[in-house]
Amino acid sequence: MTAPLQQRWGQSLMKNYGTPPIALVGGSGPYVTDADGKRYLDLLGGIAVNSLGHAHPAIVEAVTTQLQTLGHVSNLYISPPVVELAEKLLDRFGHPGRAFFCNSGTEANEAAFKLARRTGRPEIVAAEKAFHGRTMGALAMTGQPSKRAPFEPMPPGVRFVPYGDTEALDAAVTDQTAAVILEPILGEAGVIVPPADYLAAARRITSERGALLILDEVQTGVARTGTFFAHQQVGVVPDVMTLAKGLGGGLPIGACIATGPAAELFEPGQHGTTFGGNPVAAAAALAVLGVIESEGLTDHVAAVGKTIATSIEDLHHPLIAGVRGAGLLLGIELTEALSGRAEAAARDAGFLINAPAPDVLRLAPPLIITEEQAQSFVGALPAILDTAAQNDKGDLVNKENRA
Ligand code: PMP
Repeated sequence: MTAPLQQRWGQSLMKNYGTPPIALVGGSGPYVTDADGKRYLDLLGGIAVNSLGHAHPAIVEAVTTQLQTLGHVSNLYISPPVVELAEKLLDRFGHPGRAFFCNSGTEANEAAFKLARRTGRPEIVAAEKAFHGRTMGALAMTGQPSKRAPFEPMPPGVRFVPYGDTEALDAAVTDQTAAVILEPILGEAGVIVPPADYLAAARRITSERGALLILDEVQTGVARTGTFFAHQQVGVVPDVMTLAKGLGGGLPIGACIATGPAAELFEPGQHGTTFGGNPVAAAAALAVLGVIESEGLTDHVAAVGKTIATSIEDLHHPLIAGVRGAGLLLGIELTEALSGRAEAAARDAGFLINAPAPDVLRLAPPLIITEEQAQSFVGALPAILDTAAQNDKGDLVNKENRA
């Protein structure tokens, strides 16, 4: 008999995977099942990816039909779904422009980086703590030194400023700045919301100095924060926007969308990727957009997100300092650095969440999650936190014993 997955992965997968806590074998709606048959409410959605949950009939149907019609075409040709997707996204954006399709958020940001270099100016200004991806260009713009350090030297020309600090941004952007890249809300850093006027200030500063404003909406885009794009909440129009994650509802697709002169910066042959914008992934994305529209998911996300945040705050639990974020991208701030243990306790209790910072728990569930499903987590949260706190004390005792 074949050994269980949990015993096999360590021999065949590269060590960058760390130690996966569970092996998932199935999913339906907002639920997933592990190799032992245990069911979890997936409050992370593959980190904001499974916008319609798992095995959504609209995605299954769109992908199946497209595969039976026309599969991969490479970027030498175009196909109906990719053109239709570009048109629909630009329509949602509300500004004339152009889209480039790739396979991930990292690649979308890599494209934005290259687009910025086409301005002829050398510098990119990025935010400390921001996350933009793992290829060398995207990593060079990622404001987390520990992620960059093992791979130095980085591509040059990136300058970092503290996130949310308008004065620092004002001082950093010069006539040498090709672009400023920002997440509307820092996702990987722990769901950090900037001051209300920050993106508007970034827009003003970049426009004044002739630099591009790139918004990385990989985590915040496609209805995640209660508007179709997060920047729509603050009325700021970027020159370039990147998308991925929830766009494909589980299939790999990323997009770099530009408006105005930025949309004209690439010349034929300057950038591309074999699988980017393939008809199957584009068909899945069209299904996602269709369901968001037909089921009014943007408003649903805003309403459910608000209720979850309020319900969690109303618990008045001593370990909860507050809830931040927007729509269904929420960070539960803890009063102690217990998030890793809370993530594990939640898993034991049948809920998938994660710990982007030592004192923050992140929720980014499928957009289709119901109020009732979400409340089942809120109801379980006090016991999850209490267990995490007890395990923490247990660990301290163990550490003391060992010392
Ligand atoms: N940008 C942001 C804001 C992200 O959150 C992520 C992924 N966590 C990425 C880029 C990279 O996306 P991907 O993992 O699809 O390459």
